[in-house]
Amino acid sequence: MIMVSEVISMKDVKKHSPLKASVEPKMKNGIKVLVIEDEKALVDALVYNLDREGYDVTVAHDGQDGLRKAQAIPDIILLDIMLPGINGIDILRELRGNEKTKAIPVIVVSAKSEETDQVVGFSMGADDYVTKPFSVKILLQRIKALQRRADVSVEEGASELIQHKQVKVDIVRHRAFVLDEELDLTPTEFRLLECLLRSPGRAFSRQHLMDSAIGDGAIVLERTIDVHIKTLRKKLGSMDMIETVRGLGYRFKE
Ligand code: CA
Repeated sequence: MIMVSEVISMKDVKKHSPLKASVEPKMKNGIKVLVIEDEKALVDALVYNLDREGYDVTVAHDGQDGLRKAQAIPDIILLDIMLPGINGIDILRELRGNEKTKAIPVIVVSAKSEETDQVVGFSMGADDYVTKPFSVKILLQRIKALQRRADVSVEEGASELIQHKQVKVDIVRHRAFVLDEELDLTPTEFRLLECLLRSPGRAFSRQHLMDSAIGDGAIVLERTIDVHIKTLRKKLGSMDMIETVRGLGYRFKE
């Protein structure tokens, strides 16, 4: 995983533009991506590239339509923040608050580069975040990383229950409990908890946690992990046993 804070310049976007590429389009991979975005040029570039990579792409040009199309449960949603009608943050809140849509991985794609916006996105349950302008290549990597994570959880589907003290994670059913009360976690929070809970007492670096929760190759701000941990701790409430390891990362209390 690479930690960077710089924004990919428009030059890179042009450089990576595939319009001249001569590589054959890939076979359909059956993965459904919903793009909720109102910028036509960006939508066109995304549809073109995702389609070439074999994704099954659906587009919504405003918030209302996005929420409606999310009901078809795509495998991944690319979500813009500044949208006509309902904005991206409200869409995210709505998706996470709905039993049917709460586990769909969401990558927020936003022109707002302020770190505070990233923090808001994550605390609202985004799984990843890219800032415009970005290179399509990078975005495709992030989609793949998220998708790999989702696949792994399905494949590991043997009945697996991890428990430490009062905190329990059911890998197969993708559910987490504290004192037998179910937690409402985002996919990223779930994987962080799973990783920490597998080895109570072990100190994990931020990088290790990001690799486990977001996937190798994800490009993230160092602070991203802190934001996910913060929201996870809040949800664990009085049973929060996550400890900060100074200068390194986090561990789950033994
Ligand atoms: Ca927009």
